[in-house]
Amino acid sequence: MVNLAKTAGFCFGVRNAVNVVDNLLKSGFNVCALGYIIHSPQVVDLLKNRGVRVVDGVSEVKNGEVLVIRSHGVEPKVYEEINKVGVSFKDATCPFVRRIQNEVFKEYKNGKRILIAGDANHPEVRGILGYCKNEALVFSSLAELKLLFGKNGYLKKEPVFLAAQTTFNVKVWESSVSFLKDVCGCENINSFCSICSATVNRQNEAILLSKSNDVVFVVGGKNSSNTRKIYELCAENCEAFFIESLKDLENLNFNLKGKSVGLTAGASTPDFLIEEVYGKIVSYI
Ligand code: SF4
Repeated sequence: MVNLAKTAGFCFGVRNAVNVVDNLLKSGFNVCALGYIIHSPQVVDLLKNRGVRVVDGVSEVKNGEVLVIRSHGVEPKVYEEINKVGVSFKDATCPFVRRIQNEVFKEYKNGKRILIAGDANHPEVRGILGYCKNEALVFSSLAELKLLFGKNGYLKKEPVFLAAQTTFNVKVWESSVSFLKDVCGCENINSFCSICSATVNRQNEAILLSKSNDVVFVVGGKNSSNTRKIYELCAENCEAFFIESLKDLENLNFNLKGKSVGLTAGASTPDFLIEEVYGKIVSYI
């Protein structure tokens, strides 16, 4: 038997973004997306086959196309460009991301030093940075945060607003907040735990799954931040494999005989892929 995580697969924000594109296509619109609509190569290919183009900027949108903004959101200057050029668009920014953008904008205007726990190169974080004129400090681990405060002692005295990328690791977030408050002695810190509930639930279930099975398979795009975090958490407790496709699974070397096996997936992994992988793993047991 394979123990399948209840939270495996699309989260609310990803499902919404895919539905936005699907509905536009069904209504006969030509559609393009600003970047890959989700971090799943299989879904991106399926949409490409249905005519969805991926563009890098507003200037690449063709006449008659509707531009879709993905769940990661974008920086304000993208909206300015859309309005200037007069492009039709649908905004699939996840409400959880929108809330961080709004909070960062408000706190930045209030004069706070903005700190973001996340990956500075991730599109969600790049979008958020646009709401504080790219003046936030970004760290991806406790070690990076320590380094940041070690180098810039003046930060301890400044009013700080701390938020996280929605898919950030919950444990690292908690240790970062406690470092700032208890160890660093920041005098004026306002922390907003903006890790979304979809991430928290997936990470919690991944920990339980990996503690109660010998082997766990994690399915999702290699470029998916939330899938990678789930894999890293599982790998702390058991033998874990991060696979993007059925082909990855077939190329791996493992023996599942007599072992308990868990299966989970990232928030951008489609159900059909989870079902395919599930069926294949069952055949190995
Ligand atoms: S992971 Fe969270 S923030 Fe990101 S799209 Fe899904 S629900 Fe929204």
